[in-house]
Amino acid sequence: MTGLRIGVVGGSIAGCAMAIAGARAGADVTVHERSDGELQDRGFGIVIPPPLHRELVAGGYLGADMPTTPVATRVWLARAPGRRSARELARQQAPVAPCNWGLLWRALRANAGSGVYHRGRPVTSVGRTASGGAVIRTADGEREYDLVVGADGHRSVTRELVAPEVRPVPAGYLVWRGTIPAAALGDHPAQLELLESSWVTLGFPGGHGVFYLIPGSATGSRLLAYAVYASPPPAGTAPEAPVSAGYVRDIAEEHFPAEWADIVARGEHRSQALHPVADFVVPRAAEPPFLLAGDAASVTRPHTASGAVKALQDALCLERSLRASASAAEALHRYADERSAEGARLVGLGRRLGRALVENAPDWPAMGPAEVAALSSAALDGDDSYLYGSVQRQR
Ligand SMILES: Cc1cc2nc3c(=O)[nH]c(=O)nc-3n(C[C@H](O)[C@H](O)[C@H](O)COP(=O)(O)OP(=O)(O)OC[C@H]3O[C@@H](n4cnc5c(N)ncnc54)[C@H](O)[C@@H]3O)c2cc1C
Repeated sequence: MTGLRIGVVGGSIAGCAMAIAGARAGADVTVHERSDGELQDRGFGIVIPPPLHRELVAGGYLGADMPTTPVATRVWLARAPGRRSARELARQQAPVAPCNWGLLWRALRANAGSGVYHRGRPVTSVGRTASGGAVIRTADGEREYDLVVGADGHRSVTRELVAPEVRPVPAGYLVWRGTIPAAALGDHPAQLELLESSWVTLGFPGGHGVFYLIPGSATGSRLLAYAVYASPPPAGTAPEAPVSAGYVRDIAEEHFPAEWADIVARGEHRSQALHPVADFVVPRAAEPPFLLAGDAASVTRPHTASGAVKALQDALCLERSLRASASAAEALHRYADERSAEGARLVGLGRRLGRALVENAPDWPAMGPAEVAALSSAALDGDDSYLYGSVQRQR
């Protein structure tokens, strides 16, 4: 594959990882990123499995110095019935390596090469050449490639060409994500101690929140990352636009144990975003000379914590496929055989988790270890997820 010309649309997690994969397999890679700014400003939390983190470091995708805040245990909490204190429902072994999205991007970007990353260049369209190659068009003109990677996220222009029929399927509920400086835990040493060894799932009527520590951008600093899943506020009742921390604070005040509500109320929320939860998957993740990676190929409901994971695994698969193939088309078929199935698997898993944890949320305070294990097992339905390690081992 030496000298193969690869054009990558999008220079975020998937785009940088795919650029590394192509370069490692001997290709000449050019990345076209729409945004002019530094993507590292997105400081929210991303969780990946520790074995994948080790593989990416060993494979030269990530530097060993990229900070993570690994923990091995998942703790399920809810408010004690009729009280404002927390009740621990269950503990599961579920090792995770939480990262700061911005530091993860910066680490991938550092290994993706400098001369080949064009910022501030939106791709207006992609197309085929008469000789079987691909073309990327920007306001500056067009460039030809042997292979084009669509790593341009959930609104991918590349997917519009390869699978125009695919549309997101809304789940009917929302997720608020953000970070709070760890200083908000200063008056709550028990919660800080818990978060230093565990990541937390906090159930409440009609939804749940996930909390974990991630590295901050200043060396040695930490942030508390959260994702809160719930139905949209009834029209006209939200005190501010629901993207703001205001609605998350309202949910916390109404439903969380007092200490957790206080943490959410005190922190100055950063990197906030509101996402309507939705998913989709393309039938085939590559159609020569095009290949889709990361969110451009499929989006799973975030309960799987696997969108970035899949993007990184997509890149490892591209490198393996290029190395094992005699032509770009053969590599893309290998890639599609492996990654299309994985995208579909994750979408199915995300839907089952969403139904169990939000759409048909259980009576959390009434649950104990056996009920949490049964709920987890039923949602997995024989499938694997690194977020449910000990449940899988009991099968
Ligand atoms: C609440 C929540 C929690 C999550 N938690 C996790 C988690 O714990 N673990 C995990 O693995 N995943 C998680 N995810 C998913 C993860 O954030 C995404 O799957 C991942 O960041 C997608 O990366 P990407 O590079 O494919 O897409 P994006 O990050 O969307 O990047 C697409 C890039 O393409 C560029 N682009 C778009 N159009 C064009 C164009 N026309 N021309 C040029 N450039 C273009 C954009 O500017 C952008 O930089 C979570 C998601 C949510 C919503």
